[in-house]
Amino acid sequence: MSKAVETTGYFGQFGGSFVPEELQEVLTYLAEQFEQYKQDPEFQEELRYYLREYIGRENPLTFAKNLTDKLGGAKIYLKREDLNHTGAHKINNALGQILLAKRMGAKRIIAETGAGQHGVATATACAMFDMDCVIYMGAEDIKRQALNVFRMELLGAKVISVAKGQGRLKDAVDEALADLVANYLNTFYLLGSAVGPHPYPTMVKYFQAIISEESRRQILSKEGKLPTAVIACTGGGSNAIGAFAHYLEDAEVRLIGVEPDQAATMNEGVPAVLHGFKCLVLLDEEGNPRPTYSIAAGLDYPGVGPEHSYLKESGRAEYVTVTNDEVLEAFQLLCKTEGIIPALESAHAVAHVCKLAPTLSKEDILIINLSGRGDKDVEQVFHMLRG
Ligand SMILES: *Cc1c(COP(=O)(O)O)cnc(C)c1O
Repeated sequence: MSKAVETTGYFGQFGGSFVPEELQEVLTYLAEQFEQYKQDPEFQEELRYYLREYIGRENPLTFAKNLTDKLGGAKIYLKREDLNHTGAHKINNALGQILLAKRMGAKRIIAETGAGQHGVATATACAMFDMDCVIYMGAEDIKRQALNVFRMELLGAKVISVAKGQGRLKDAVDEALADLVANYLNTFYLLGSAVGPHPYPTMVKYFQAIISEESRRQILSKEGKLPTAVIACTGGGSNAIGAFAHYLEDAEVRLIGVEPDQAATMNEGVPAVLHGFKCLVLLDEEGNPRPTYSIAAGLDYPGVGPEHSYLKESGRAEYVTVTNDEVLEAFQLLCKTEGIIPALESAHAVAHVCKLAPTLSKEDILIINLSGRGDKDVEQVFHMLRG
């Protein structure tokens, strides 16, 4: 059994589960429970209910007419994850995992967060489902993200400061995993991106695949044909894998992931094990994960989901980089042309489309996955533009 589960956790050479034995038992059990509930009609019904009534799905696939006219070339559509409750795609996954946790009898949810966005999504879902919520966060990150810490506390979560190591995301992950091993009987570890050991990348993709389930149906109904390309930013890779999932078999649809040139995991990474799974990783000369830098906190991660690593290796998806200047330009362009302030993460996808659209014809269709709204980034952009 554990063998079968293990092989399903691989995408080519990537993925798997490289964790201590006691943690492996917990993950194997989780994988079995996920496979079981995924096929349970009552679970499906409950998931669909909350996607609709709480998150507000389905969200629109908006034709960006002004942006299209401005750039000239391909027709551009925006998949509006920014319109979800809490303003980004992360809630899709938090909701799905909470419903699974509830069915598994968990009373307590733990998660780790770097910039705080996943912590806020988790705290939101925990408030809704009356679960105890503990968020591990590096001491350094807590200092920088005071407002997100307060948000999580308003939502009823307990934020635990991790001072060990460098007081960053990696140290928070270690603490959360230790908590899980000690308390797995009543505790569920809610992971925020399509990363980590099996079954997390598979599970997170499953819950985020609603994005492309909707967009594929929407584009066929609006245009009567599939898009030329789907474009999404890649941090850990959850919004991108969700945006790509239902097009993977459509060989004619190009799938394009966009990353910051200073956190270019897909373009400069090498196969290595990070945080319990194998993926492309940015390493320094000594073979340690290299510090990354991105103006978008959600893209600041030296690894990437195993399935993206595989999609790159197999050639099914393309991964490109954009510069901070291009992102800031695209951010402002979307504000001015469409009246939409995008998250800085999502502005990476817009930035690539600014280059791609003019090279295509007006018969071509591009779908940008607008992973989140930019209210959270306005102050930072103010300092970058006026500072
Ligand atoms: C967290 C976040 C991302 C990056 O995470 P992925 O797992 O790569 O999707 C992108 N956009 C927004 C708005 C985010 O909050």
